[in-house]
Amino acid sequence: MNILLLGAPGSGKGSQAELLEKEYGIVQVSTGDLLRDAVSKNTDLGAIAKIYMDKGELVPSNFVLELLSDRLKNHDCDNGVIFDGFPRNIEQIKLLEDLLEKRERELDLVVNIDVPFEVITSRLNSRRVCSNCGKGYNMISNPPKGKNCENCDGEIIVRDDDKEDVVRNRLDIYNENTKPLIEHYSKKGIMININGVGSIANIYKGLTTYIKEKKVQ
Ligand code: AMP
Repeated sequence: MNILLLGAPGSGKGSQAELLEKEYGIVQVSTGDLLRDAVSKNTDLGAIAKIYMDKGELVPSNFVLELLSDRLKNHDCDNGVIFDGFPRNIEQIKLLEDLLEKRERELDLVVNIDVPFEVITSRLNSRRVCSNCGKGYNMISNPPKGKNCENCDGEIIVRDDDKEDVVRNRLDIYNENTKPLIEHYSKKGIMININGVGSIANIYKGLTTYIKEKKVQ
């Protein structure tokens, strides 16, 4: 099963992906994570990507595609992939289609997680991440038990691109570039809209009920 998760930054794509991974044995591939990894390893690509990411702007597609296509060669993707963060604009729709075609696969389901702007802003402002292992926290809904990360005792920080002015820019860019994707996939008839306000467990329940009813594989 190949799934695409759509939704603004902070809409909860990561939390839903974590649960889908466990239940269906498919793997989440987040281009944001791939890019952050390249930045932290200080690769040439990472150094370029950082310039865009720090401003909340989209990294040029060819760089993101390179990371994504490498990642998909890994055998843990053979069973299926949860795409998170790619495509992010109209141009990238075709790039993903080509990538999947090479693997003789196609998207089976697109999930659009819908969350009002005010809720997104408040979530992003309270979002934290472990600087060592990347585990995500939210100071309101999912705070760490102690001062440091529960997984690895790493330092818990605010992601550079979760800072307030960058957040505003990321949301503008989302509205401008990513919303047309919703129209595209909705016309194709493979998209489901999910209300992303509520508990992670309830949202997940709605999603898996749909997957089971429609027998998405
Ligand atoms: P995310 O973690 O998905 O919010 O992504 C963090 C940042 O990585 C974004 O603000 C962009 O700068 C960059 N990024 C992630 N995915 C893409 C993509 N598909 N195309 C271009 N830039 C991306």
